[in-house]
Amino acid sequence: MKKTIRVLIAKPGLDGHDRGALVVSQALRDYGMEVIYTGLRQTPEQIAAAAVQEDVDAIGLSCLSGAHNELFPEVMRLLHEKGADDIIVVGGGVIPWEDIPFLESKGIQKVFTPGTPTIETAKFIEQAVYKRDGITEEVFSGVAPERIDHIGIAVKSLDEALPFYVNVLGLTLEAIEEVPSQKVKVAFIKIGETRLELLEALTAESPVAQFIEKRGQGVHHVALGVTNIQDRIDEMKANGIKMIHDAAVPGAGGASVAFMHPSSTHKVLFELCEKTKSKEEAK
Ligand code: ZN
Repeated sequence: MKKTIRVLIAKPGLDGHDRGALVVSQALRDYGMEVIYTGLRQTPEQIAAAAVQEDVDAIGLSCLSGAHNELFPEVMRLLHEKGADDIIVVGGGVIPWEDIPFLESKGIQKVFTPGTPTIETAKFIEQAVYKRDGITEEVFSGVAPERIDHIGIAVKSLDEALPFYVNVLGLTLEAIEEVPSQKVKVAFIKIGETRLELLEALTAESPVAQFIEKRGQGVHHVALGVTNIQDRIDEMKANGIKMIHDAAVPGAGGASVAFMHPSSTHKVLFELCEKTKSKEEAK
């Protein structure tokens, strides 16, 4: 780490269990952060005051009592009142998924649900603090995909399918190329910043031929646009995700790609896709 990050771990409200908060505190210390723990049953006022007094970079709020929708925004309000909006605030505890968008709309940068590896919490805080402080040269890990790069669609024949996309929908055919590593011919169709990738099998051994035989034509995969693809692959594996490719392989359009195994992803075939320079940029 470039600077020692100071974090306040705080337990607002009335619940009397702090095992989770203590585990997170220790994990952040092991990661190299300085951690101050408030102890149980703190008011939002006490927490905001302690954060300012201790000059922390970040606050981790933990709540098991169910009162997070009142307590967390109150901490945010008090921080704002004290001119401490630059403190990164994350939350955790027993928080239903339904409440997360509300809390994040109140300025909580991220809410971690039970079972989140503590290393992810540490990396998130580190990344958020570096971003706030304009420290950019560090290669961050734990970066979320940036966009849907493309959606792959398996078709029996490009010649038969293309008229629908180009003539009926009126989309632009950008390129057709063969990808030997996947034994497919692909047509890229531009739609805004993303693409539809029509896939026609070149041989009966192509994964696309096998897909069509088993499931028929249709949506085949979703490609997530990432940077530093090998780091992303290693992270996925560290999180227990089974990868079809342990190292990136050449994909269409000069991209580096790696597929995740659907058994690890609730049955969706995801591709990680890192673009080198686009054709326009290379010109
Ligand atoms: Zn693809």
